[in-house]
Amino acid sequence: MSVRSRASSTVSNSSIVVTIHDLNDIKTNVVNRKRRASSIVVRAVAEEKNVDGVKIVNWTELSEWQQDNEYIFDGYVQETNSVKKCMKSLKMMHNETINIWSHLIPSCVYLFLLIFFTDFMLEKKLTTLLGPDHGAMDTIDYIMVNIFLLGAFLCLFCSSCFHCFKQHSENLSVLWSKADYMGIIILISTSIISLLYYGFHDNLFLCKLFTVLTTIFGAVCGVFVLNDRFNHKDWKAIRAMFFIMFAASGLLPIITGCFYFGIQEAVNRVQLEYVFYEAVCYITGALIYGFKIPECYYKPGKFDYVFNSHQIFHIFCVAGSIFHFKALVASFVHAKMGIHQISA
Ligand SMILES: [Zn+2]
Repeated sequence: MSVRSRASSTVSNSSIVVTIHDLNDIKTNVVNRKRRASSIVVRAVAEEKNVDGVKIVNWTELSEWQQDNEYIFDGYVQETNSVKKCMKSLKMMHNETINIWSHLIPSCVYLFLLIFFTDFMLEKKLTTLLGPDHGAMDTIDYIMVNIFLLGAFLCLFCSSCFHCFKQHSENLSVLWSKADYMGIIILISTSIISLLYYGFHDNLFLCKLFTVLTTIFGAVCGVFVLNDRFNHKDWKAIRAMFFIMFAASGLLPIITGCFYFGIQEAVNRVQLEYVFYEAVCYITGALIYGFKIPECYYKPGKFDYVFNSHQIFHIFCVAGSIFHFKALVASFVHAKMGIHQISA
């Protein structure tokens, strides 16, 4: 190859490199513009409804206390200092909308069940399964099913209130975040205690022992979450691990039950299959929340409005509570069937 042709080949190669580089730049610009455009569209929709002075801003326009997840760039409701404006933001699309509604709707369902389930629906289920002479529901059954429903309602309701009022002011945000954490503790406690009864209904000493232990663990967690230091965003992963550990304390009575009654009987008593799915939901949700998956793997802004870690965590929480409810009802029916067979 002559010197001239070699030179012209180098020039043409470098121009190809430049062209590919330019193409990449253009592609990145297009993606960024698209992202900005979609964010502007969502913001425009929100601002179109912005008749009540609720302002949607991005990360750079936030007060420092509002900055929590650096991977969520846009769609924040600016500090409102007004409960009325926070309520009005319920009608708007912002980055807390899905967090609010994903727990508000299920909390209303749990409230409905709390009022009607044991009195009108569970009774019918027993009659279908065991016949009309299945016997009346004990007071303790009544309490156990309802304390779980109350715990699930309180947890989800406090959570949606937190997401609605966190934009009010720093003080209210801190207050509701503590209510949110307390709601989680109440749900974990009522979940474990309600199922404990069906695991150990014929061994009240073990039932009492694990109830006391769960109450102590719950109280320790409560003291921890009411501490202001715990509330800082740097503690997010530790916070998630703390709740996982408290929930995991529910393994103690299950292991004890396996030794005491044998694995099969323990599985039947607390419907371990559902409990397993419940644990998978809570642990997966907490890990996703703690490690900010999936947004931490992408540029800030990709999951501002939908599919970010907090929203996925919310869905897993609701799913976990549903599995627990299924386990509780099935355990109740299993216990009643046993009693029915003995008395028949
Ligand atoms: Zn939440």
